[in-house]
Amino acid sequence: MAELSGAEILAKSLKTQGVGEMFGLVGLPIGPITAAVQAEGLRYIGVRHEQAAAFAAQAAGYMSGRIGVAAVVSGPGMTNAITALGNAEANCWPMMLIGGSSSTDLMERGDFQETPQLRAAAPFVKWAGQAQDPRLIPHLVATAVRNAISGRPGAVYLDMPGNIIDGTAEEDEVRWAERVPDPSRGKAADDDLAKALETLKSANNPLVVVGKGAAWARAENEVREFIDKTGLPFLPMPMAKGVVPDDHSLNVSAARTTALKNADVVFLIGARMNWMLHFGLPPRWNENIRVVQLDIEPEEIGTNVPTEAPLVGDAQAIMGQLNAALDAEPWQYEDTSEWKASLSAEVEKKRKQSEEFYKSDDMPMGYYRPLKILDDAMPRDAIFVTEGENTMGIARTVINSYEPRARLDAGTWGTMGVGPGFALAAQALNPGKRVVALEGDAAFGFGPAEVETAVRHELPITWVIFNNNGIGQGVEELDRSKPLPPGVMTPHSHYERIMEAFGGKGYYCTTPDELEAAVKDSFEQVGSTLIHVEIAPRAMRRKQEFGWLTRHK
Ligand code: ADP
Repeated sequence: MAELSGAEILAKSLKTQGVGEMFGLVGLPIGPITAAVQAEGLRYIGVRHEQAAAFAAQAAGYMSGRIGVAAVVSGPGMTNAITALGNAEANCWPMMLIGGSSSTDLMERGDFQETPQLRAAAPFVKWAGQAQDPRLIPHLVATAVRNAISGRPGAVYLDMPGNIIDGTAEEDEVRWAERVPDPSRGKAADDDLAKALETLKSANNPLVVVGKGAAWARAENEVREFIDKTGLPFLPMPMAKGVVPDDHSLNVSAARTTALKNADVVFLIGARMNWMLHFGLPPRWNENIRVVQLDIEPEEIGTNVPTEAPLVGDAQAIMGQLNAALDAEPWQYEDTSEWKASLSAEVEKKRKQSEEFYKSDDMPMGYYRPLKILDDAMPRDAIFVTEGENTMGIARTVINSYEPRARLDAGTWGTMGVGPGFALAAQALNPGKRVVALEGDAAFGFGPAEVETAVRHELPITWVIFNNNGIGQGVEELDRSKPLPPGVMTPHSHYERIMEAFGGKGYYCTTPDELEAAVKDSFEQVGSTLIHVEIAPRAMRRKQEFGWLTRHK
């Protein structure tokens, strides 16, 4: 009978669980793990900073519908990945972080990089465990996967001490585990379905809010059918754009403020009433907003605002139930309602305003025209990754998504630095698709070395850097006669040269024509590209009725 190392048992276990890629950064003691996963036929993508590996893993989990995996070294390697664990938890995305750690026989002796890794991971994960015997690794991996993908998905941490990675076991003594089945799709009780429909029917100003929980649940067909059947206006949350195509006539994104303020019943489909939805409170919402809430997590029901009609379970299953109920007893919200007319008028007003912004000849350019150029050029099934303050916020209103899970951004935690890892995963998992990573210059600064990862692994991402020389706003020139404003970056930088340094193609654009040509050329390249776009340092969003993070009662 063959003897296997802990690393080999781990690699076989990951393969059994359906893992196709591992993102990581090698060093002691995880080298054997990365070699073993390659020997098992998994794709190993080596990055330049652990945060990118763990961000990539969670995007891979979200996009694949299963779990993404990152492997990092002990001590600082593992702690570098903790922010990404927090981000996965905040977004409710499944991922597994595998951390190499000190050998168990050297613990508490001041070993190389000895760190309380299990304790460090604990607040940011659903589950954490340590392998203590090579024979039990498959069981631990299955436990980790089950925890990550079941119910509300999240992050798990598997600690792999060096002597367990290098330790051996006879193959027939290993406790091999089966593939963890995909979670069963829990349905709602009949009474709850009836109550939800009754509540929606009783609304004067109904609004559906589609969240990224619906995207994770792969409920796109069911949600689209429900919107078409009921004729209800809907608003996608940023990463739920594309669950229903953005150009659907009932999409009221452009009238978001009006829609939230005047809705009397809201149907939340996999979206939390957290800061992103202004806690469901005035002044952004109607004081007496009534809530129909679909969520897989029972504890989420009623958060911040009481829920009148809860639907606990899986979004795909429950939206299917609602559609079946509507087949049995058809109902449609009146097409001629005042509510719909007022929302359409607002959408039209915003569309006209935007048209003006898109035509702007301002030099240096503001945000809107370059974003429109990008939107016009991107194929309908492009995957759009974006981060940065104004860049991401304004892009949400200009760049359309037509497919589910095709927009990845700073998310619920508002984390800067997610872009490169997300883009690597998006392109690795979708080799035929155009992946565009739009980053503000400040956000890009968190992980520019990952451009090299993309070139090395032949991932033809189009990076677009909107450079306004700073965080939020920059300056035209640095005035060194006084302390530098805390948020400014060096003007006249050339981010495209970072791409050129590694053999990819770079473009430097200051005009709309240059940008149009660069995007076109970039989409024709087989390799990675980076387009640097000069934006006016003081460029801003159009005036908003409410400031960001408005104070609530
Ligand atoms: P958004 O930021 O898009 O509003 P959130 O991340 O706030 O979305 O909310 C996503 C919600 O979706 C979470 O409360 C989570 O529990 C829920 N969820 C996760 N998986 C499912 C599923 N399969 N079915 C229904 N809800 C889900």
